[in-house]
Amino acid sequence: MDLSAAKSALKKYFGYDTFRPMQAEIIERIYEGKDALVLMPTGGGKSICYQIPAITLPGTTVVVSPLISLMKDQVEALRATGARAAFLNSSLSEVEQRQVEDDFFNGELDLLYVSPEKLVSQNFIPLLKRAAVNLFAIDEAHCISAWGHDFRPEYTQMRFLKGEFKDVPVIALTATADKLTRKDIISQLKLREPETFIASFDRPNLSLEVRPGQKRREQIIRFIQKRPGEPGIVYCLSRRSTEELAEKLQDAGIDAAYYHAGMNADERTKVQEDFTNDNTLVICATVAFGMGIDKSNIRWVIHYNLPKNIESYYQEIGRAGRDGAKADTLLFYSYQDVMVLQDILKKNESDMLGLKIAKLDRMRQYAEAVGCRRRILLSYFSEDVAEDCGNCDVCKNPPKAFDGTVIAQKALSAIYRLQQSVGMTTVIDVLRGSGKREIMERGYHNIKTYGAGSDIPFLEWQHYLLQLLNYGYIEIAHDQHGEVKLTPASRRVLFENEKVQLVRFATIKERQKAEKARAKESAKPQRVRDELFEKLRKLRIQLARERGVPPYIIFNDATLEEMAATRPMTDEEMKNISGVGERKLHLYGSYFIDAIIEFVGPASSHGKASTYQVTFDLYQRGLSVEEIASKRQISISTIYSHLAILYEQGYEVALEEMVSPAEVDKVLKSLRYLQEPYKLKDIYDYLGEQVPYHRIRLALAYGKREEEKR
Ligand code: ADP
Ligand code: ZN
Repeated sequence: MDLSAAKSALKKYFGYDTFRPMQAEIIERIYEGKDALVLMPTGGGKSICYQIPAITLPGTTVVVSPLISLMKDQVEALRATGARAAFLNSSLSEVEQRQVEDDFFNGELDLLYVSPEKLVSQNFIPLLKRAAVNLFAIDEAHCISAWGHDFRPEYTQMRFLKGEFKDVPVIALTATADKLTRKDIISQLKLREPETFIASFDRPNLSLEVRPGQKRREQIIRFIQKRPGEPGIVYCLSRRSTEELAEKLQDAGIDAAYYHAGMNADERTKVQEDFTNDNTLVICATVAFGMGIDKSNIRWVIHYNLPKNIESYYQEIGRAGRDGAKADTLLFYSYQDVMVLQDILKKNESDMLGLKIAKLDRMRQYAEAVGCRRRILLSYFSEDVAEDCGNCDVCKNPPKAFDGTVIAQKALSAIYRLQQSVGMTTVIDVLRGSGKREIMERGYHNIKTYGAGSDIPFLEWQHYLLQLLNYGYIEIAHDQHGEVKLTPASRRVLFENEKVQLVRFATIKERQKAEKARAKESAKPQRVRDELFEKLRKLRIQLARERGVPPYIIFNDATLEEMAATRPMTDEEMKNISGVGERKLHLYGSYFIDAIIEFVGPASSHGKASTYQVTFDLYQRGLSVEEIASKRQISISTIYSHLAILYEQGYEVALEEMVSPAEVDKVLKSLRYLQEPYKLKDIYDYLGEQVPYHRIRLALAYGKREEEKR
């Protein structure tokens, strides 16, 4: 087997033109009959690494996966591509199991998914021996290691594979494994001369943003309202807060539900299924939500609270944008969260507490970072990145440093005079000259720095103190009720006039303003979420409901985006869209082509995209509309419609020569009185049959482009 077979299967079954980094090497290695360990981030494309060998090699690939709830979806998704796949686990009846086993034995399966329990069960091994297995793929392979975080005892029994099936290659795959876990996987599975493939953990399609945790609910509502129709998850710390937030979102008219481990299994399944099928758009959940979801079109993830460590954070945001299309992540952060998490850790964990606190601290540093966040994340995973990413809030809005020496001196001096015996809040209260009873009672209003920073709002002070903490100018004694302490560095500021650079505090309003300004100036094509995309998305939901499958199994968001952007109108063009393989073209292609043609306009009912190009070429050569029509044997009105579409798409078409400003004005004004979607006939009637159809079409094109300019 060679790579060209792999490549054509990639196109035929999955509709993709090229392999992602490492996929081809891994597949080649399997073709050579060798073992491999694959480390790729969630959404990185691990499955293709064994699915392509499974489809192209004679025999069946046995995939071991611990997530029974996912198997059905995975198999369904594979079948939709035309691959022959089935699964065996405890959810099947005896009869169903027998059927699958027969198919397996008769060589009628490309892939067989099994649970680890099934694989190691006594009666399954003889069956494995009789069938023709070409590859064992061990998914979520970190479960084999007690070092990992999801240890599964059944996994350790799989060591027999290499002994019993000497010539069958084994590929172990995981998204999370530190060095120790990797070593463990290799030795436990007894992999022979395995090559380890570690893909980049970068997920450039995920934007990263951290905001101060003020007015979180309002911010979340605004965030969601800006993204109509886009599925997303809000992770909350407590069960109660998932319920409360979901209710608040519902009050704001948002289609939200909650999910946590305290619900019964049926309720949880229902919520999860509704989300998978795009019936519910927003889930407010504890971190219990996610392990079992394989939804590729999650467009955003919000963390209501700070996660415990960077591993969890990265895994949770990693659930967004698995289809490769743009997705946004937002983390709310306040110092309060850190304190709460520390308390939880101290209460619950006795072993490795130090390590856990240190990990939390790294998480806090990430949230407070004033450098590119992606670099921080990737460096945490030992990946060296030379450049800033351009897709995090820090890159997009670099913080401005200023001379904060005076501010630092005021704060440090207050801490000094308070004898390093109070927490952060009291320090700020004193600086701001608060009249709180406890301040008065303790006599803090007599301190010299009392009120010295009353010009700076509380939250801003908090922000500066955090920076002083990060730069080592102060410390927090966690073992002494969070009292703020001075350090050697603070003495240099207080007594040796050392200069301190601070980063300006951008209030939420300022941030939003800056964001708006940026959105205006950057004319870069953002996500293609236009009317056509919406139309295609609705079509996808309809087709999915009729067939009883999750929508993303039909096409994923990235594929719909590409359709919306390039508007394929023939089978040939449709085939070129990434994600459209042969079977899906056959099953769904015509529905989407029809929808696009209908959207693009009545004139091109059997249009080919390139037909516009031909018209445009002739037009550019100076031919009149009548001449183009006669040369092309197409009606004049069709040519006008081509020109209108070309104009809409930004081509240079002298519209003003074909329709007068007065007519444009009339047509556009008429829209105010008509219902969307506008039909040409309605406009024609409304204008008393005075403006011919083709000029209405041109006027609309003018209006559309003007609107886009705005
Ligand atoms: P993982 O198992 O690593 O989490 P998947 O195998 O589910 O990731 O792949 C994530 C997404 O990327 C899927 O939608 C998949 O179809 C897509 N994908 C995988 N390989 C390619 C490729 N070579 N080109 C385009 N898309 C790909
Ligand atoms: Zn960045």
